[in-house]
Amino acid sequence: MPEIELAQRIRRLKKEKGAVILAHNYQPPPIQDIADHLGDSLDLSRLASTLPEEIIIFCGVHFMAETAAILAPDKRVILPEPSAGCPMADMITAGDLRAMQLRHPGAVTIMYVNSTAEVKALTDICCTSANVVKVIESVPADREIIFGPDRYLGAWAAGLTKRELHLWNGYCPTHQRIVPDEIRKLRREHPGAVVMVHPEVNPLIAAEADILLGTGGMIRFAGSSDAGTFIVGTELGMVYRLSKLYPGKRFIPASESAICPNMKKITLEKVARSLETLEPVIRVPGPVAEASRSAILRMTQIG
Ligand code: SF4
Repeated sequence: MPEIELAQRIRRLKKEKGAVILAHNYQPPPIQDIADHLGDSLDLSRLASTLPEEIIIFCGVHFMAETAAILAPDKRVILPEPSAGCPMADMITAGDLRAMQLRHPGAVTIMYVNSTAEVKALTDICCTSANVVKVIESVPADREIIFGPDRYLGAWAAGLTKRELHLWNGYCPTHQRIVPDEIRKLRREHPGAVVMVHPEVNPLIAAEADILLGTGGMIRFAGSSDAGTFIVGTELGMVYRLSKLYPGKRFIPASESAICPNMKKITLEKVARSLETLEPVIRVPGPVAEASRSAILRMTQIG
């Protein structure tokens, strides 16, 4: 079915079923275009709990839909493609974290929201790329900290807070596709462009950047900056999002190959099918949901 007809079918089904479509900033352009709300994973999950609709079609990856289900336990949260996972979130299991906690008894566990519900359930405080510094600073100086799964986000925040962290060795494969030479070449081609990169990149890329920001931060920064051209060091979907928001400005991907294959598993066909069947639902078992909710809420109390 042509894209335009699929989009019409989705809009009709959405109305009939009383559903709302949430989409992450990394989603493919056709999904961004039919979404009711776009944002980063935590903003969308928070939104899920406050929206009037009972049915949430979450266009993103598994841990994001799980977080929405944790924060909105009475709603039906549907992930149109259940195999859309996050390799970084899957790099640490609950068993791995338990073993690390045994090696560092008394340490405070901070986990990036890009982690599974089982891992969050063993966590003291979650964090995002936007509030990681504040979350680390909330821990008394005499307490050790376990941080995961992203070693690059952790190392960057450790440098800013001057704290030593026990880092888990996880990373985002998509952000590792960005390489310094490409950024240098783009800088030469676009003098005056601002290089903004996501803290999930490795230190070689971070060293090339003018500013490190999460996706929400990039949106705010690009909107308020006087600059007209930006080199964007994160997943490619963000370039579409920024270009649509600020058509008068120019956004250039730091790498055309920074594509998250899992984010791209969501298609219009799958969204339409999910609206027809109201499946597959993402469910988080009661005790896991309760414990992981506490770790997320502790983070929101900090900032
Ligand atoms: S871009 Fe990286 S961190 Fe985000 S979902 Fe894909 S693999 Fe996970």
